[in-house]
Amino acid sequence: MTKKGRVFSGARPTGRQHLGNYLGAIQNYVALQKEYDCIYCIVDVHALTTLETTRDIKNNTYEMALDWLAAGIDPRESIVFIQSHVPQVMELFTILSMVTPLGKLTDLPTFKEKVRMQPNNVNLGLVGYPVLMTADIVLYKADLVPVGIDQASHVEFARETVRSFNFRYNTSVLKEPDIKLTEVPKVIGTDGQQKMSKSLNNHIELALTPEETEKVVMTMVTDPARKRRSDPGNPDVCNVFSMHKVFSSPEEVAMINLECRRAGIGCVDCKKLFAKNLNAHLAPFRERRAALAQNPDDILDVLRDGERRARVIAEQTMAEVRDAIGLP
Ligand code: SF4
Repeated sequence: MTKKGRVFSGARPTGRQHLGNYLGAIQNYVALQKEYDCIYCIVDVHALTTLETTRDIKNNTYEMALDWLAAGIDPRESIVFIQSHVPQVMELFTILSMVTPLGKLTDLPTFKEKVRMQPNNVNLGLVGYPVLMTADIVLYKADLVPVGIDQASHVEFARETVRSFNFRYNTSVLKEPDIKLTEVPKVIGTDGQQKMSKSLNNHIELALTPEETEKVVMTMVTDPARKRRSDPGNPDVCNVFSMHKVFSSPEEVAMINLECRRAGIGCVDCKKLFAKNLNAHLAPFRERRAALAQNPDDILDVLRDGERRARVIAEQTMAEVRDAIGLP
């Protein structure tokens, strides 16, 4: 089947993936493969801008790749690789830096936010982060970048940088990527308040055992006004109910919606039901993950093959870029 174009997306190596990653990105990655030529990159160099130690970066990269493949990213359909394995991206980053005004980078709200978060580590890479992200996208001549509305400005930055480059060197070798607006659900963590995230330790890892999953689910914060089993609850303010809407049957969702409000079901039973349905949903993933984990070399082979395929595209682009600039 002819595909509609090329998609690029990257994610930092955060190790074992959680429900937030799954619902927010991985499911979408899997779905896009059917219609597009997809390139999925584990952006390990980006991680260096904020990491204080790289002790876990190798293992996190491996675990993330394992989760992606187990979740259905198909290396026969998509290119899956590690950013630093294709060094042409660093070359393009340097070249694009020359057409990017420094003030534009330091004015970006995302940069200001990073400075607030790590005032003692405002490194050059942190400032140039959006340029490296642009290099990631345009090196592979991506037509589309799937992002949620809050990330759309990153792709807009890439488009502007491409225009600056093409204008400066009177060329059209770099391609302006389009935004593929994707609905990214905000998955709330077990604390019931903040976005699910490993750093906040409010996450549910996909690769947990069913027992471990149930244990974590039982810690989920529910309707804070429901103190006793006999108090009626309000599912509209309860994160467990939001999760039921994703993983439980319409009949179960309707039942909880009714019974919670009249204290007909307690939070313990409600959570047990969610854990059961989540475990059933993740059972095929966990089975595939266990099978893949038996042969770690196979994962490394997938990443090496992805690197080989990505390098072919990258080197072609860089030959055109060098030629357009007139480098000797
Ligand atoms: Fe939330 Fe379920 Fe408890 Fe209602 S019964 S407050 S939906 S956990």
